Amino acid sequence: MTSALRAIGFDADDTLWHNESLFSLGQEKFRALLAPYHSAEWINRTLYETELRNLAHFGYGIKGFALSMIETAVELTEGRISGSEIGQILALAKAMVAAPVELLPGVEEIVPRLAQSYPLLLITKGDLFDQEGKLARSGLGEYFTHIDIVREKDADVYTAILAKHGIAPENFLMVGNSLRSDILPVLAIGGRAAHIPYAITWQHEAADAPEPATNGFHHLASLYDLPALLQTLPANG
Ligand SMILES: [Mg+2]
Repeated sequence: MTSALRAIGFDADDTLWHNESLFSLGQEKFRALLAPYHSAEWINRTLYETELRNLAHFGYGIKGFALSMIETAVELTEGRISGSEIGQILALAKAMVAAPVELLPGVEEIVPRLAQSYPLLLITKGDLFDQEGKLARSGLGEYFTHIDIVREKDADVYTAILAKHGIAPENFLMVGNSLRSDILPVLAIGGRAAHIPYAITWQHEAADAPEPATNGFHHLASLYDLPALLQTLPANG
Protein backbone atom coordinates (compact mmCIF):
# COMPACT_ATOMS: atom_id res chain seq x y z
CA MET A 1 0.00 0.00 0.00
CA THR A 2 1.44 3.34 -0.98
CA SER A 3 -1.51 5.69 -0.57
CA ALA A 4 -1.02 8.65 1.76
CA LEU A 5 -2.78 8.68 5.05
CA ARG A 6 -5.32 11.50 5.25
CA ALA A 7 -7.52 10.63 8.23
CA ILE A 8 -7.41 8.44 11.31
CA GLY A 9 -10.45 6.79 12.87
CA PHE A 10 -10.59 5.76 16.51
CA ASP A 11 -12.86 3.32 18.22
CA ALA A 12 -13.85 4.56 21.69
CA ASP A 13 -14.63 1.75 24.16
CA ASP A 14 -11.48 -0.12 25.20
CA THR A 15 -9.44 1.86 22.68
CA LEU A 16 -9.59 5.35 24.22
CA TRP A 17 -11.05 4.46 27.60
CA HIS A 18 -11.75 1.43 29.78
CA ASN A 19 -15.15 -0.12 29.13
CA GLU A 20 -15.19 -3.91 29.15
CA SER A 21 -13.75 -3.88 32.67
CA LEU A 22 -16.84 -1.94 33.76
CA PHE A 23 -19.12 -4.57 32.21
CA SER A 24 -17.09 -7.37 33.81
CA LEU A 25 -17.44 -5.73 37.19
CA GLY A 26 -21.19 -5.23 36.62
CA GLN A 27 -21.52 -8.88 35.66
CA GLU A 28 -19.62 -9.91 38.77
CA LYS A 29 -22.12 -8.04 40.97
CA PHE A 30 -24.99 -9.56 39.01
CA ARG A 31 -23.56 -13.05 39.59
CA ALA A 32 -23.27 -12.35 43.32
CA LEU A 33 -26.94 -11.34 43.38
CA LEU A 34 -27.99 -14.59 41.69
CA ALA A 35 -25.48 -16.79 43.51
CA PRO A 36 -28.20 -18.27 45.77
CA TYR A 37 -29.98 -19.53 42.65
CA HIS A 38 -27.34 -20.74 40.16
CA SER A 39 -23.65 -21.35 39.48
CA ALA A 40 -21.52 -18.51 38.12
CA GLU A 41 -20.90 -20.40 34.89
CA TRP A 42 -24.58 -20.95 34.20
CA ILE A 43 -25.43 -17.32 34.97
CA ASN A 44 -22.69 -16.11 32.60
CA ARG A 45 -23.83 -18.35 29.80
CA THR A 46 -27.51 -17.45 30.14
CA LEU A 47 -26.73 -13.73 30.38
CA TYR A 48 -24.57 -13.87 27.25
CA GLU A 49 -27.28 -15.72 25.28
CA THR A 50 -29.84 -13.18 26.43
CA GLU A 51 -27.58 -10.28 25.45
CA LEU A 52 -27.05 -11.69 21.95
CA ARG A 53 -30.77 -12.24 21.48
CA ASN A 54 -31.51 -8.72 22.71
CA LEU A 55 -28.98 -6.94 20.47
CA ALA A 56 -31.65 -6.93 17.79
CA HIS A 57 -34.09 -5.22 20.18
CA PHE A 58 -31.96 -2.87 22.26
CA GLY A 59 -28.58 -2.55 20.50
CA TYR A 60 -25.25 -2.21 22.32
CA GLY A 61 -24.69 -0.40 25.58
CA ILE A 62 -25.54 -0.31 29.25
CA LYS A 63 -29.32 0.06 28.88
CA GLY A 64 -29.55 -3.10 26.79
CA PHE A 65 -27.22 -4.84 29.24
CA ALA A 66 -29.47 -3.83 32.17
CA LEU A 67 -32.58 -5.19 30.45
CA SER A 68 -30.73 -8.41 29.63
CA MET A 69 -29.67 -8.79 33.28
CA ILE A 70 -33.29 -8.37 34.40
CA GLU A 71 -34.55 -10.84 31.80
CA THR A 72 -31.86 -13.34 32.83
CA ALA A 73 -32.68 -12.89 36.51
CA VAL A 74 -36.39 -13.54 35.88
CA GLU A 75 -35.59 -16.59 33.78
CA LEU A 76 -33.01 -18.14 36.10
CA THR A 77 -35.15 -17.66 39.22
CA GLU A 78 -38.29 -18.81 37.37
CA GLY A 79 -39.92 -15.55 38.32
CA ARG A 80 -38.92 -15.64 41.99
CA ILE A 81 -36.58 -12.63 41.78
CA SER A 82 -37.87 -9.93 44.13
CA GLY A 83 -38.67 -6.32 43.39
CA SER A 84 -35.81 -5.20 45.61
CA GLU A 85 -33.38 -7.46 43.74
CA ILE A 86 -34.53 -5.96 40.43
CA GLY A 87 -33.93 -2.59 42.10
CA GLN A 88 -30.35 -3.67 42.81
CA ILE A 89 -29.83 -4.53 39.13
CA LEU A 90 -31.14 -1.12 38.10
CA ALA A 91 -28.88 0.60 40.65
CA LEU A 92 -25.94 -1.36 39.27
CA ALA A 93 -26.75 -0.19 35.73
CA LYS A 94 -27.10 3.44 36.83
CA ALA A 95 -23.73 3.25 38.57
CA MET A 96 -22.22 1.93 35.32
CA VAL A 97 -23.65 4.84 33.30
CA ALA A 98 -22.27 7.35 35.81
CA ALA A 99 -18.86 5.68 36.22
CA PRO A 100 -15.86 7.97 35.65
CA VAL A 101 -14.26 7.71 32.22
CA GLU A 102 -10.75 6.33 32.65
CA LEU A 103 -8.52 6.96 29.65
CA LEU A 104 -6.18 4.22 28.48
CA PRO A 105 -2.40 4.73 28.61
CA GLY A 106 -1.08 7.23 26.06
CA VAL A 107 -4.48 8.59 25.00
CA GLU A 108 -4.18 11.90 26.80
CA GLU A 109 -0.89 12.81 25.11
CA ILE A 110 -1.07 11.05 21.74
CA VAL A 111 -4.62 11.94 20.61
CA PRO A 112 -4.07 15.74 20.92
CA ARG A 113 -0.72 15.40 19.13
CA LEU A 114 -2.20 13.45 16.20
CA ALA A 115 -5.07 15.94 15.96
CA GLN A 116 -2.53 18.56 14.89
CA SER A 117 -1.60 16.54 11.78
CA TYR A 118 -4.70 14.57 10.80
CA PRO A 119 -8.47 14.87 10.92
CA LEU A 120 -9.52 12.40 13.62
CA LEU A 121 -12.81 10.51 13.41
CA LEU A 122 -14.43 8.89 16.41
CA ILE A 123 -16.39 5.85 15.22
CA THR A 124 -18.16 3.95 17.95
CA LYS A 125 -21.24 1.85 18.35
CA GLY A 126 -23.50 1.77 21.32
CA ASP A 127 -26.05 3.91 22.97
CA LEU A 128 -26.06 7.54 21.79
CA PHE A 129 -26.79 9.00 25.24
CA ASP A 130 -24.15 6.86 26.91
CA GLN A 131 -21.42 7.42 24.30
CA GLU A 132 -21.98 11.19 24.12
CA GLY A 133 -21.80 11.35 27.91
CA LYS A 134 -18.54 9.42 28.00
CA LEU A 135 -17.01 11.55 25.26
CA ALA A 136 -17.95 14.73 27.16
CA ARG A 137 -16.48 13.35 30.41
CA SER A 138 -13.33 12.14 28.63
CA GLY A 139 -12.30 15.69 27.70
CA LEU A 140 -11.35 14.42 24.21
CA GLY A 141 -14.29 15.81 22.23
CA GLU A 142 -12.43 18.81 20.82
CA TYR A 143 -9.80 16.64 19.11
CA PHE A 144 -12.25 14.84 16.85
CA THR A 145 -13.32 16.38 13.56
CA HIS A 146 -16.23 13.95 13.15
CA ILE A 147 -18.09 11.77 15.61
CA ASP A 148 -20.11 8.85 14.32
CA ILE A 149 -22.12 6.78 16.78
CA VAL A 150 -23.50 3.86 14.81
CA ARG A 151 -25.62 0.79 15.40
CA GLU A 152 -23.09 -1.67 14.01
CA LYS A 153 -19.59 -1.40 12.55
CA ASP A 154 -19.43 -3.42 9.36
CA ALA A 155 -18.00 -2.81 5.88
CA ASP A 156 -21.16 -1.04 4.66
CA VAL A 157 -21.19 1.32 7.63
CA TYR A 158 -17.50 2.21 7.20
CA THR A 159 -18.06 2.76 3.47
CA ALA A 160 -20.94 5.12 4.24
CA ILE A 161 -19.04 7.05 6.93
CA LEU A 162 -15.96 7.56 4.73
CA ALA A 163 -18.10 8.59 1.75
CA LYS A 164 -19.96 11.09 3.94
CA HIS A 165 -16.68 12.69 4.98
CA GLY A 166 -15.09 12.47 1.51
CA ILE A 167 -12.26 10.14 2.56
CA ALA A 168 -11.09 7.31 0.28
CA PRO A 169 -10.62 4.01 2.17
CA GLU A 170 -6.97 3.76 1.04
CA ASN A 171 -6.28 7.09 2.75
CA PHE A 172 -7.82 5.96 6.03
CA LEU A 173 -6.43 4.17 9.10
CA MET A 174 -8.76 2.78 11.78
CA VAL A 175 -7.42 2.19 15.30
CA GLY A 176 -9.28 -0.11 17.65
CA ASN A 177 -9.35 -3.04 20.04
CA SER A 178 -11.96 -5.18 18.28
CA LEU A 179 -10.89 -7.35 15.35
CA ARG A 180 -14.53 -7.92 14.47
CA SER A 181 -15.67 -4.28 14.53
CA ASP A 182 -12.57 -2.12 14.04
CA ILE A 183 -10.14 -4.14 11.95
CA LEU A 184 -11.66 -6.76 9.62
CA PRO A 185 -14.38 -4.57 8.03
CA VAL A 186 -11.90 -1.73 7.38
CA LEU A 187 -9.39 -4.08 5.74
CA ALA A 188 -12.27 -5.52 3.69
CA ILE A 189 -12.99 -2.14 2.09
CA GLY A 190 -9.32 -1.44 1.33
CA GLY A 191 -8.41 0.69 4.34
CA ARG A 192 -5.64 0.31 6.90
CA ALA A 193 -6.27 -0.89 10.43
CA ALA A 194 -4.16 -0.90 13.60
CA HIS A 195 -5.24 -3.42 16.21
CA ILE A 196 -4.47 -2.55 19.84
CA PRO A 197 -5.89 -5.36 21.98
CA TYR A 198 -7.52 -4.61 25.31
CA ALA A 199 -7.01 -6.88 28.34
CA ILE A 200 -10.54 -8.32 28.10
CA THR A 201 -12.56 -9.02 24.95
CA TRP A 202 -16.32 -9.51 25.04
CA GLN A 203 -17.06 -12.91 23.44
CA HIS A 204 -19.22 -11.25 20.81
CA GLU A 205 -16.26 -9.16 19.55
CA ALA A 206 -13.82 -12.05 19.31
CA ALA A 207 -12.54 -12.97 15.84
CA ASP A 208 -9.49 -14.57 14.28
CA ALA A 209 -6.67 -12.11 13.61
CA PRO A 210 -5.72 -11.54 9.97
CA GLU A 211 -2.36 -12.98 8.84
CA PRO A 212 0.38 -10.61 10.06
CA ALA A 213 1.36 -9.88 6.44
CA THR A 214 -2.17 -8.86 5.42
CA ASN A 215 -2.05 -5.67 3.39
CA GLY A 216 -2.85 -2.65 5.58
CA PHE A 217 -2.98 -4.63 8.86
CA HIS A 218 -0.87 -3.51 11.80
CA HIS A 219 -0.69 -4.93 15.29
CA LEU A 220 0.34 -2.56 18.08
CA ALA A 221 0.98 -3.36 21.74
CA SER A 222 -0.28 0.05 22.86
CA LEU A 223 -1.22 3.49 21.58
CA TYR A 224 2.34 4.59 22.34
CA ASP A 225 3.39 2.63 19.23
CA LEU A 226 1.04 4.51 16.88
CA PRO A 227 3.24 7.58 16.13
CA ALA A 228 6.11 5.28 15.07
CA LEU A 229 3.77 3.37 12.76
CA LEU A 230 2.58 6.64 11.18
CA GLN A 231 6.21 7.54 10.43
CA THR A 232 6.51 4.41 8.30
CA LEU A 233 3.43 5.26 6.20
CA PRO A 234 3.54 7.53 3.12
CA ALA A 235 3.45 11.19 4.15
CA ASN A 236 0.19 13.08 4.34
CA GLY A 237 0.28 15.02 1.09
MG1 LIG B 1 -13.87 -1.09 21.38
